[in-house]
Amino acid sequence: MGSSSAGKLVDMGDIKQIGARWGQVTSTYRSPAHNRRVGGVANSYHLSNRAIDIARRPGVSHSQIAAAFRGAGYSLAESLDEGDHSHFAFGRPNRRSSPVRARMVAVAAGEKTEWRIVYAPASSGAGN
Ligand SMILES: [Zn+2]
Repeated sequence: MGSSSAGKLVDMGDIKQIGARWGQVTSTYRSPAHNRRVGGVANSYHLSNRAIDIARRPGVSHSQIAAAFRGAGYSLAESLDEGDHSHFAFGRPNRRSSPVRARMVAVAAGEKTEWRIVYAPASSGAGN
């Protein structure tokens, strides 16, 4: 519980399998161009293939998925309820030269978040 485990290595194959239990995995790795197109932040974890977006099935809550990832031993660097999907990033916070910018982080508390990101419908197959 309170133990600060470092979390296990990021295994996106495993992570996708876990995510698929809760909904449709809509995004993992993004190229810089793709990331820009969908309005992702410049240092998005999607760029380093350490993030996943999951369009939740009806009845599935963001916190349920977060708990599943934590239960599988992953440490969540980001856990965002983006309204129509959940975004998770794994591993330690980015250690780039530039500090991580302040972002609005939605804590899943059953409340609707006000902010949104531009989200282009992902055509399947690109980048997998
Ligand atoms: Zn995302």
